Amino acid sequence: MIYCVEDEDSARELILYTLQASGFEAKGFARGALFWDGMKEAKPDLILLDIMLPDEDGISILKKLRANTETKSIPVIMTTAKGTEYDKVIGLDLGADDYLAKPFGMMEMVARVKAVLRRTREKEDSILLRAGDIVLDESRHQVTEAGRTIDLTLKEYDLLHLFLRHPGRVFTRDELLSLVWQAEFFGETRTVDVHIGTLRTKLGKDGALIQTVRGVGYRMEVRL
Ligand code: CA
Repeated sequence: MIYCVEDEDSARELILYTLQASGFEAKGFARGALFWDGMKEAKPDLILLDIMLPDEDGISILKKLRANTETKSIPVIMTTAKGTEYDKVIGLDLGADDYLAKPFGMMEMVARVKAVLRRTREKEDSILLRAGDIVLDESRHQVTEAGRTIDLTLKEYDLLHLFLRHPGRVFTRDELLSLVWQAEFFGETRTVDVHIGTLRTKLGKDGALIQTVRGVGYRMEVRL
C-alpha cells in the first residue's frame, strides 16, 4: 500500500491512477490531518509526500514520521516544486529516501517508487552485525574482516554471532557450551577455549576484540 499526500486534486488523482495501473494499492490524502487518520488505520509500504500543503507541511510530517519508532523506517519520497524550495529541502537533508521535482512524469514517479521499495527490501533482508572491521551478514551466513571473507566452522560462526548479538556481555564457558553446543559437549569447557582460539586467529587483528575475562569466561568488545 502506497500513501500519497498531495493537496492538488488532479495531481493526486493522476498519481493514484498511475500507481494502481502499475499494480500497486494506493490511497490519497489531501492534507496532513487526513493522512494521520489513515496512518492510524494502516501503515503503508511507502509514502509520497508533498511539501506545500494547506495545514501541516510535508517537512513537519516527515519529521514526525522519523521521530516515531513505528513509522521511522517507512520510506518517504518527497515531492516538491523545482527551484529554491527543492534546493532548500534537499539541503536540509531531512532523511527522505528520495525527492521528485515537480512537474514530474508518471513513469519517472513509478520508477522511483519501485527503486525505493527495492532498496528498502534489500536493507531489511540483510541484517549486518559489526565489530571493528568484522561484518557478519545474517542472511548470507557470511563473515568478512576488512572486506576479506573469513571461513568459519559452524560453531565458530555461532560463537561470533552470539558475541555480536550481545556486545560487551560476559559469557561463562558453561553458558557458551549450553548456548552454542547445547548438550553435545556437556562439561567440556576446554572445547570452548579451543574454538575461541581458532576464531581469534581467523579474525586477524580484530580477534583481539574477543577478550578473556579471567576466571569467568569471554566477552567481545564491539568497537566500531
Ligand atoms: Ca501542494
